[in-house]
Amino acid sequence: MSVAQITPARASLVGELAVRRALPTRGRRTVGPWCFLDHLGPATYRDDLRYDVAPHPHIGLQTVTWLLEGAMVHRDSLGSEQLIRPGQVNLMSSGDGVVHSEENPGLNRGELHGVQLWLAQPDATRHGAAAFAHVEDPPRLEVGDGLATLVVGAAMGMASPARPDAEGVALELRLARGTRAVALEPAFEHALLVCEGEVVLGGEAVAPGSLAYLEPGADEVELVTHEGAVALLIGGAPFPETVVMWWNFVARSHEEIARAYEAYLKHDGRFGEVDSALARLEVAPPPWFGSRR
Ligand code: MN
Repeated sequence: MSVAQITPARASLVGELAVRRALPTRGRRTVGPWCFLDHLGPATYRDDLRYDVAPHPHIGLQTVTWLLEGAMVHRDSLGSEQLIRPGQVNLMSSGDGVVHSEENPGLNRGELHGVQLWLAQPDATRHGAAAFAHVEDPPRLEVGDGLATLVVGAAMGMASPARPDAEGVALELRLARGTRAVALEPAFEHALLVCEGEVVLGGEAVAPGSLAYLEPGADEVELVTHEGAVALLIGGAPFPETVVMWWNFVARSHEEIARAYEAYLKHDGRFGEVDSALARLEVAPPPWFGSRR
């Protein structure tokens, strides 16, 4: 059985929300096409803690939102407005450009807990049109003493209507105490993010705050739990190109990112606008922006 490489996440903030960024880290940039993984919260809503994420742009990626607790309203420049609750999936494809917000639907009590992931888009779609999909009731399967829910992609005989453009899969695993083998696609690299509890993988304990990476070649992985745990298993074919990431942009070169930044700055129509009460996010230009001419 393959031994996991365990990389610590780093603490970050998205607005007022504390997150643990498990991808990218210094030790690992991608897992298949997955290039970004934030573990959101858990955090408690209050009157003055709404955890809104104001409108901001993306290029070259698909965002996956998966909540364990709380709710969000997704709004985007395609005109989409979609409430998401735990157990549902939002998949947004940015292609050449999209702007979206993730807003508090009116909660001032309870917890917010979830993950947001990005998939790098392949060349075939990354310059194409934006799209948004919501999956109300994703496929679920009992696995021994646990429940596997297919977030995106295909696995364990299940296929989600939410399909990454590059070959990739994400499963939520709700595990009781025990030991079980979970099937893997041998051509994929995989990683496990524990959201609640602890999972022992290859003899090493994995808890919230780190990512356990598994290289391709294994057709299953044994997961041991001493108490209940909730984890996210992601996988995909190793991404054939090196992605360049800055702010909310995924590309192949600094020049592509500079062009996207300039288009957003100038409201030039590439990104469109979101029908939101929140002012859109702005950032200082990338460090190489002024020197490119
Ligand atoms: Mn976003």
